[in-house]
Amino acid sequence: MRALLKEIEQNGSNRSRKNQMLRQAIKFSLHEGEKSITEFCKHMRLSVPTGTKLVQELIDKKIFLEAGKRDSASGRKPTVFDLNPSIGYVIGVELLLNSIRINILNLRHEVVFEFKNDSFDISKEDEAYRFLAKKIRELVQSSAVPRDKILGIAIAITGRVDSKSGISYTYLQRYSPLTVSLENEWGIPVFIENDTRLMALGERRFGMAKGKSDVIFVNLSQGLGISIISNGLIHGGHSGFAGEFGHIHALENQRICVCGKKGCLETVVSGLALEEIYKERYNMSLPYEQILSKMETGDKVLKAILSSMGEQLGNSLGTVVDIFNPEMIVIGGSFTHVAEFMKYSIIKGFSLQGLPQLIADCEVEISSLGGQAVMLGSFSLVTEKVLK
Ligand SMILES: [Zn+2]
Repeated sequence: MRALLKEIEQNGSNRSRKNQMLRQAIKFSLHEGEKSITEFCKHMRLSVPTGTKLVQELIDKKIFLEAGKRDSASGRKPTVFDLNPSIGYVIGVELLLNSIRINILNLRHEVVFEFKNDSFDISKEDEAYRFLAKKIRELVQSSAVPRDKILGIAIAITGRVDSKSGISYTYLQRYSPLTVSLENEWGIPVFIENDTRLMALGERRFGMAKGKSDVIFVNLSQGLGISIISNGLIHGGHSGFAGEFGHIHALENQRICVCGKKGCLETVVSGLALEEIYKERYNMSLPYEQILSKMETGDKVLKAILSSMGEQLGNSLGTVVDIFNPEMIVIGGSFTHVAEFMKYSIIKGFSLQGLPQLIADCEVEISSLGGQAVMLGSFSLVTEKVLK
């Protein structure tokens, strides 16, 4: 794949019609999976002979494979084609406050290798950086994925990130720009983005937001953030920090937020808030994931806490709906498995606060991708960058 991209670039201008067609056909397959020649021609507005020639060229270059016949109501079963999954790989890295997750995905965005460590501490800058640098080198060696087939590495990191300059402002600041430091370590292109924004990118390409133009994605996890999809594009804001929904002022509760302010929404709606509330009620400290797992036993107190949290989240989302007029709100993050339970209270909360006409036009959906949204977003980010 890397070789093909080089070849496209060497064979004249990137803007030449043929190069554009090759890239467009690959992009179409990356997002849509197996397709027939008729579907390629329709999507790319090509004649059947031109489309057939293009697909044949991609087969000759081993970029495409014949993926069998598709069942058809008309009786004639068209041959479908898909990307050869083993010609390129993407590495997705999720760096959270206390965990690191690494996935290697093939070109059909299937996970071929994964690693997770829950004792990671991003606040220990040097230790965290050295662990990451070493772990990627080890994983690439042990995964049997040829290094020259890795198209890029996307780092999803919590906190303020400027993806254009590659700078992470909240964590690993010492290694600024983080993308440059890590490219020097690994010799592979590196991209970074805020974790919530990468999840939204995954949802836009492969999840509930696919084909939608105006969506608010909510990442309800240890913290709380949103990503705004406007006119089909992720809105980054002037400095790339848009979506700090958890830090809007919500109430006069005097609770100090991780950002240093008092009364942020995140102090009442987030995994961290759940840990605090639980500790006050039971005088016991538990990680929020363990508290959430008590929903399986039908814990009534936990249900009441989550209902109240859902309503508060809905109240604040009502304001967001009034400002952005989205067609859909997607609830994702580590709370995804309990979000169906919270949906009623979220809708109740935002129906009370938003303008009726805007609320009536906006659906609330639960992420279908769950924890994989961030990895699929990483896949999209890298493939969009290398095929731009
Ligand atoms: Zn805050």
